Amino acid sequence: MTVYPGGAPEKSRASVPDLRSLVEGLTAYLETLRETGVKDIELDRETLHELGLAPVSAIPAPTPSPTPWREAAEQLAAIAREIAGCRRCPLHQTRTKTVPGQGCPQPDILFVGEGPGRDEDLQGLAFVGRAGALLTRMIKAMGLTRDEVFIANIVKCRPTVDGAGVRDRPPTPEEMAACLPYLRAQIAVLRPRVIITLGATALEGLLGLKGIKRQRGQWREYEGIPLMPTYHPSYLLRGGGDDTARYWEVWDDLVAVLTQLGRPTPMPAAVQRRDINTTASQ
Ligand code: SF4
Repeated sequence: MTVYPGGAPEKSRASVPDLRSLVEGLTAYLETLRETGVKDIELDRETLHELGLAPVSAIPAPTPSPTPWREAAEQLAAIAREIAGCRRCPLHQTRTKTVPGQGCPQPDILFVGEGPGRDEDLQGLAFVGRAGALLTRMIKAMGLTRDEVFIANIVKCRPTVDGAGVRDRPPTPEEMAACLPYLRAQIAVLRPRVIITLGATALEGLLGLKGIKRQRGQWREYEGIPLMPTYHPSYLLRGGGDDTARYWEVWDDLVAVLTQLGRPTPMPAAVQRRDINTTASQ
């Protein structure tokens, strides 16, 4: 038993009626909170300390641990910074901006295209021109948004015929070989559940396979990740855009991807085709 020669310390002198009134008031307040739907009350370390419930030193400070999502985003940003300063191939001489790609750091789907065009070169973003608008509609028709997937290219700088930014051309094998380590590094971070290559160059760059017309719609694999080759949106635009035979071949490929992912493809293909037409015309 503790004896206090000069009387009990100040904090112990509250009278029973005072304490009862305090507890009743607190109880009533908590009841009110519960009735208004409050289920939890958060108290910070300092408040707990002031209430005498625990000394500050006894409560471990929260240690911020990066989520896998944030960690992946930081690693992708580091790769993008490296690309921004890259001079591995001659394309750096004529670029306005590098285009590392963008989207969800932990996506189900990674789209891989050929290389930046004029709009992408100006904005530093992948698939933002007319082909990008078509790709956006295709992604939307799949029940996704661009923020839920990642979109990148085989090369990160714009290849043009004369180097003067007039006409686009496919990257050369040397340019692809120089740039491919960046895409490989991105895929290692992203670990998508499915890769969709858009067009002949993306398929050749990643898997060394030629003949997109023959390869389209056939499941392949890139380092254990299922890969679906399909046509590039630019090729669809050249063939008439939405609602052409080429377009519906691509749509079949996208439906196969949704099935692979276990995502809903609730309506028969013919109905989906009608719906995607409606979406495309909005
Ligand atoms: S295309 Fe790729 S390898 Fe060539 S300069 Fe740009 S980032 Fe570097």
